[in-house]
Amino acid sequence: MSILIKRATILTQNSKRTQLQGDLYIEGQTITEISSKPLTNEADYKIDGTDTLVMPGLINTHTHIPMTLLRGYADDMLLNKWLEERIWPVEAKLTKKTIGAGTRLGLLEMIASGTTSFLDMYFFEDTIARITKKAGLRGFLGVPILDFGTPECTFEQLFPKADSFIKKWKNDSLITPLIAPHATYTCKPENLQRSKELADKHDVLLHMHCAETRDEVYNIQRRYGVRPVEQLKKYGLLSERMILAHCGWITKGEILDIKEGGAKVSHNPVSNMKIGTGGYTPIPELLEARVPVGLGTDGAASNNVLDMFDTMKFCALAHKQHRWDPTILPSQTVVDFATIGGATCLNRNKDIGSLEEGKRADIILLDLHKPHLIPHHNLVSHLVYAAHGSDVNTTIANGTPLMVDRQFTTLDYEKTLADAETCAKELTS
Ligand SMILES: [Zn+2]
Repeated sequence: MSILIKRATILTQNSKRTQLQGDLYIEGQTITEISSKPLTNEADYKIDGTDTLVMPGLINTHTHIPMTLLRGYADDMLLNKWLEERIWPVEAKLTKKTIGAGTRLGLLEMIASGTTSFLDMYFFEDTIARITKKAGLRGFLGVPILDFGTPECTFEQLFPKADSFIKKWKNDSLITPLIAPHATYTCKPENLQRSKELADKHDVLLHMHCAETRDEVYNIQRRYGVRPVEQLKKYGLLSERMILAHCGWITKGEILDIKEGGAKVSHNPVSNMKIGTGGYTPIPELLEARVPVGLGTDGAASNNVLDMFDTMKFCALAHKQHRWDPTILPSQTVVDFATIGGATCLNRNKDIGSLEEGKRADIILLDLHKPHLIPHHNLVSHLVYAAHGSDVNTTIANGTPLMVDRQFTTLDYEKTLADAETCAKELTS
């Protein structure tokens, strides 16, 4: 399939952060031409880009996609109570059917709000992978490891399952399998080590929750005599494979450990603020140490949306307010987190995260002809402070249009919503 986008404003996010007025051509899965001169190539799809911003698809570096079914089910609670009394009892009842319904709902929401890649950790990850591939998004999907097993299988079955999941999806064009030891408080040292060995064996990424709350840090210190990041360092998990979600309670020494190991950080400002974790991921210090940073929404039970525009705005505002300094996090830096920064976290900045000839065609189009986006003084500023996910009118992933003029091509909108409502009621009744 070929697609020609004409007369658009193109935000490339290349190394020079070039913006231009012009045309963009996609052939198969690849961006083959970006030009400020009119292109006349033949194309299966032609899109008029007047009043439209074309930019890289957004990259969500931490979520639990089927948790869309628990959106609004348990809010305004303390984290422990929230998990133990509301979330875990419902999760124990999950089946392939409910996981499927929640996944489709999450995928639909992401396509509708301009996300083309996401990093996920949840149960029944093989079901999530099959549905994600069919829906056409790029999924970085991790089988979670927990000392006490998961609703899907016993602990004894977990590592064999992770092994076969990785083998099954290793060479897929859209699905990138990985291993996700849940956290240092749910994985004993032996299981951290086994996770690392499996990641090394298959040359895949590792993804974990880390230093999300102060309680977690105290508990790990009490149990092991070290802080969470130090625990990961001790067992060799701080490597270029590792993406750490949260890091709201880390010290300057731990930032250096992360830097030296080559690990990356996924910042989830909305989830942290909603749960009231109290810690602020030290973004300026991480940037100073040149640690790659991406943005995540976390699951819809603690956000409560998967809209990355929303997350970009909270990210910028939270740090300005916290540091009493409006210059601390410019909008360009925040847009970088959601695009090329996320791609760098996933070790995929060579083929996604920016619009450049030869890169994969993961592209979104925003309608700029709206009252809240006029005038067009600074479109990068608009992306962070003024735009919403609903301003995206077209989403293309790997060269395939998944939404064109707000019409979905791979998912049935009405059926997805109805199934999700039914399954959510079944789960929580
Ligand atoms: Zn999470």
